[in-house]
Amino acid sequence: MIQLYIPLNFLGVLYREIKQSLTDLDKMFGLLGREREVAEAPGAPALRVQGGRVEFDAVDFAYDPARPVLHGVSFTIEPGQRVAVVGPSGSGKSTLARLLFRFYDVKAGAVRIDGQDIRHVTQHSLRQALGIVPQDAVLFNDTLGYNIGYAKEGATPAEIEAAAQAAQLDGFIRSTPQGYGTRVGERGLKLSGGEKQRVAIARTLLKNPPILIFDEATSALDSHNERAIQAQLDAVGQNKTVLVIAHRLSTVVDADQILVLEAGRIVERGRHAELLARGGAYARMWNLQANSQAPDA
Ligand code: ADP
Ligand code: MG
Repeated sequence: MIQLYIPLNFLGVLYREIKQSLTDLDKMFGLLGREREVAEAPGAPALRVQGGRVEFDAVDFAYDPARPVLHGVSFTIEPGQRVAVVGPSGSGKSTLARLLFRFYDVKAGAVRIDGQDIRHVTQHSLRQALGIVPQDAVLFNDTLGYNIGYAKEGATPAEIEAAAQAAQLDGFIRSTPQGYGTRVGERGLKLSGGEKQRVAIARTLLKNPPILIFDEATSALDSHNERAIQAQLDAVGQNKTVLVIAHRLSTVVDADQILVLEAGRIVERGRHAELLARGGAYARMWNLQANSQAPDA
């Protein structure tokens, strides 16, 4: 039985936290398979991923019927493209990612992957197709090797080490008392925010899904670490469909499309240069913060 950082009587809380923080934990869904807000269609087929085209089609959503959160949100991420979402805190950015994982069902409209409504395929196959590098990775109270390897059923030690190497975690792991067998968690090693994020990157590399979501962190990383992680995220995202909840200027500048979300509506969309030239919401956000940091999120 897997032990978690958090005592078992807090599992309900943990489950909600996971949904909020968008942690990629297929396993957690097995452990915490309760309180589901969505139902599997009987006899639903598996998702058939071709290129990994993601489509939000006129999506309305509310957590609480009295307070709509998304209004008629439509956008498409073509296979291999990178789309960045920017906007003020509370505008609905993370909600887009939660809907793509189908933690909740849309109230109107549809979310499709390669033309298939995600409500009409198995949840397992949907989550197999998606990977997320969250701001705060949740670790199991188990070994470092386990914490990376659970991302892929039957992963070999060599595969786990290759993923750790690519996430620039291998050196750190080898410096710990028992290497890949070192336990992390309440009675083991405590990892820093940057190390946890690397674990999340290693998991994602091992899982190698066609569609990725990055919830970029702004805090807890110094600029050296941030550049290193950015380079890793870029490498992970090569040739994949990527939705980025963007905080870093480099992500926004290079994105194939930027969506500006305000109070649950897409108010502007386009590439960086187009949006700057337009002199609207994005340009204001950029000018306000370009000197200090990335657009707020
Ligand atoms: P962002 O990521 O842009 O900061 P979110 O998508 O997390 O915004 O949230 C959008 C809105 O939905 C906010 O008003 C937030 O308070 C609300 N919200 C987020 N999660 C929940 C939830 N689980 N239950 C109710 N309201 C929520
Ligand atoms: Mg958010």
